[in-house]
Amino acid sequence: MEENDKKKLITILVPAYNEEEVLNMLYERLEKLMNENQKYDFEILFVNDGSKDNSLKIMQELREKDKRVCYVNLSRNYGKEIGMIAGFDYCRGDAVVIIDADLQDPPELINEMIKYWEEGYDDIYAKRKSRKGETWLKKFTSAMYYKVLQSFTKIDIQKDTGDFRLLDRRCVEALKAIRESQRYTKGLFSWIGYNKKEILYDRDSRAAGKTKWNYKKLIDLSIDGITSFSTAPLRWSTIIGIMVSIVGFVYMVAIIIKTIVSGVDVPGYASTMVVILFLGGIQLVFLGVIGEYLGRAFYETKGRPLYFIDRYNEEKETNKNINKTRNI
Ligand code: UDP
Ligand code: MG
Repeated sequence: MEENDKKKLITILVPAYNEEEVLNMLYERLEKLMNENQKYDFEILFVNDGSKDNSLKIMQELREKDKRVCYVNLSRNYGKEIGMIAGFDYCRGDAVVIIDADLQDPPELINEMIKYWEEGYDDIYAKRKSRKGETWLKKFTSAMYYKVLQSFTKIDIQKDTGDFRLLDRRCVEALKAIRESQRYTKGLFSWIGYNKKEILYDRDSRAAGKTKWNYKKLIDLSIDGITSFSTAPLRWSTIIGIMVSIVGFVYMVAIIIKTIVSGVDVPGYASTMVVILFLGGIQLVFLGVIGEYLGRAFYETKGRPLYFIDRYNEEKETNKNINKTRNI
């Protein structure tokens, strides 16, 4: 390669929240990879998502040693989805690899991703063959969830795939253009399209530290997944509503005829209660469904910036992303 022929830059994007135990280990693995691959320049971009431990300090120390390390410090904890978009906004690479801080995604796979990128793929995603260190219940609920989500939407949702992937610059620009606040990035990767390539890997268990996920967060994310990619639940409410009304109408006619033919019949407490409870239940559920969508519309119309930045590397930042938010 000629000297003035500028090498392409690859950003390794690491969203991190309370990851002090693994950051150094992760850096060592990435450093090895970066040093071995001389064909490209690399940048490690940590997004410190409001960690309450020493994560930020470790990132700063790493940057002192190695200027290829950059970090964005968010003003508080926003969650991984927002952490990723902050990373997209600040990354400089011609390609970006998103990787978890906890070494569940083996960094060595990045070389394979780069190979496919060179072949012209835009989005090379790693699909899990196995999931070590995850409970039976988590695997089962995850499998069920993908099924439900897929049945709700026409977009191909990638099963057993996390955020571990290499994205070409044009995918990153596409994702940056989507400024919705209740982000379901897993679905957005599919939504933007482009040339995709799947590679398989065994997912390790966490190197150290604890998972930040809990069932509440998973349920929230699941509902976000469905409501941001499909209005099928609203359609279902309409269809079920119509069916219940038809049954109700038939029953009404039957009661009227019965009353005319054989007079008023006082007992009927049980059937009345059943009807009231059943209809009341259905109404509440569908009000909830409508509420979910209304809530999303409420958040999006506020058009708030997705996050605020405390600092990018050494510089303190006032938020330059304000302009990037959607103008409605
Ligand atoms: N993470 C984050 N903000 C959060 C929670 C998690 O940036 O509020 C990061 C975390 O540091 C890790 C990645 O997201 O790099 C995945 O988190 P975790 O390992 O806890 O999730 P799991 O692998 O169990 O799904
Ligand atoms: Mg993890």
